[in-house]
Amino acid sequence: MNKEMICIVCPMGCHINVEKSGDEYVVTGNKCPRGKTYGIKELTNPTRVLTTTVKIKGGLLNRLPVKTVDAVPKELLSECMKVINNVEVTSPIKVGDIIVKDILGTGVNVVASRSM
Ligand code: SF4
Repeated sequence: MNKEMICIVCPMGCHINVEKSGDEYVVTGNKCPRGKTYGIKELTNPTRVLTTTVKIKGGLLNRLPVKTVDAVPKELLSECMKVINNVEVTSPIKVGDIIVKDILGTGVNVVASRSM
């Protein structure tokens, strides 16, 4: 198995190649060790931090920015969005307040990115 990708861990954006050789993963093109970790994870269990908004009542704006505290499996992102799109909160909300607890049983909370 072999996959080329761009490392998104830092703005350098190294073009890396990840190859499975037996039980080992060989990563090339990375300028630092974080690229190796990213490349292996991207091949075995790709995850992303989800940033989006939810409806809010009584706030300064109609939508409240939210994000997952940690990365969730990439394959669950659209299901997470379905859950989040059905959420409506009421002001006041403080930054860091939990908006959705343990989304889809991932163990990851969705929290407010700002107070409103
Ligand atoms: S490999 Fe290292 S230097 Fe290159 S983009 Fe990833 S984190 Fe940045």
